[in-house]
Amino acid sequence: MNTAVVGINWGDEGKGRMVDLIARDYEVVVRYQGGGNAGHSVVNEHGSFALHLLPSGIFRRGVINVLGNGVALDPENLCKEIDVLKEKGIDITSKDLKISERASLLLPWHKDLDELEEKRLNDKKYGSTKQGIAPFYSDKYQKKTLLCGQLKDIDSFRKHLGEIMEWKNLVLKGVYGAKGYTMEDLEEWIDKYCMRILPYICDTTKLLQECARQDKKILFEAQLGALRDIDFGIYPYTTSSNTLAAYAPIGSGAPFVKIDEVIGVVKAYSTCVGEGPFVTEMSGEEAKILREQGSEYGAKTGRPRRVGAFDIPATAYGVKVQGATNIALTKMDILSYMDKIPVCVGYLLEEKKIDGFPFPSLLEKCRPELIYLKGWKTDIRDIREYEDLPKEAKEYIEFIEERIGCHIGYISVGPSRDDIIMRENI
Ligand code: GDP
Repeated sequence: MNTAVVGINWGDEGKGRMVDLIARDYEVVVRYQGGGNAGHSVVNEHGSFALHLLPSGIFRRGVINVLGNGVALDPENLCKEIDVLKEKGIDITSKDLKISERASLLLPWHKDLDELEEKRLNDKKYGSTKQGIAPFYSDKYQKKTLLCGQLKDIDSFRKHLGEIMEWKNLVLKGVYGAKGYTMEDLEEWIDKYCMRILPYICDTTKLLQECARQDKKILFEAQLGALRDIDFGIYPYTTSSNTLAAYAPIGSGAPFVKIDEVIGVVKAYSTCVGEGPFVTEMSGEEAKILREQGSEYGAKTGRPRRVGAFDIPATAYGVKVQGATNIALTKMDILSYMDKIPVCVGYLLEEKKIDGFPFPSLLEKCRPELIYLKGWKTDIRDIREYEDLPKEAKEYIEFIEERIGCHIGYISVGPSRDDIIMRENI
């Protein structure tokens, strides 16, 4: 049984906590796209963590964690993260973590270019996390970066890196008027970070092939959500990789693996970080209260998240493109303060109701059709059985379930690993 845990909306749905929870039932956890721009929050017996690159199965001893070829492998970010975990008593050995030799390296100038371009765009910026992700993926597809496995032949790695640096300096200096790189800068980066990740680099395709042959269970962990997918999201306010479950076997290095279950993670209300259209966005006092109640500040950047009503058209679309077979509805506890809970049941385009989720450029012109469901106004954080939830909470869940067309198998009522209601058997 292979499972993917993916985001259904704009990201920050709570994928990290779901992976941390169910990883106990899997032998391997693989991150297949994105990079150090992720902020997967995990709260467990070791403490509170915001994982950026490391798969969220890293806390489970005996689980092999893989960073697949689809990931933007930033050695600096990864080393810093390994150090943070070490400080909290979690030592990551080459048995716990495997990096695909085919993962491309995020190079030092990718972050500079991200920053420089956002600055140039000024008020038209995309809201990048400035972790170099867009410049990285552009260069990957231009074949202007290096594969992790090339570090095994360091002399030829240096030579190839020097050639790319010369080309990139033309852009840094010529286009942006910025400072270029020297080979000395890069030597420092190689020594400080690349050499440290060397022991983790291997042929992960071979490893996953062997795992598949032995019927070991593989868990795929996505970053961000369906609406940020480069091909199916709200382009250009997307990320630069495929966040969909369908990409998991490719980005993991296991194109031969079949995914049996897709757990789509959905927040009980909407949040969105960065720029771009957000149809159900709340404003004023209503938004402020929900943001405070839900502690909606980015795990990577600390930026306040935009908040809004649960969005049925966007979520139903996310469920469809993710091919979700089961839903984890997170942060239900946050809604406990509301007398009545807004839900967007459709979009109006020029005052006419439209079917489903529209083409990205039309989103700016859409308005939400809102209805209000009755709140439950009671603390649900200690509830562990579905039947013990207040009637109004069950009505909220079942209304969403019916409208998005997918079973809700998990409901989380707090940030810790065990703050969860399993509803599989209903
Ligand atoms: P991810 O990137 O999808 O893993 O999500 P994030 O970690 O960016 O954002 C989810 C946030 O919600 C984190 O701060 C979690 O600790 C928190 N969280 C997740 N589930 C729950 C829940 O059921 N209740 C509460 N109160 N917080 C939750």
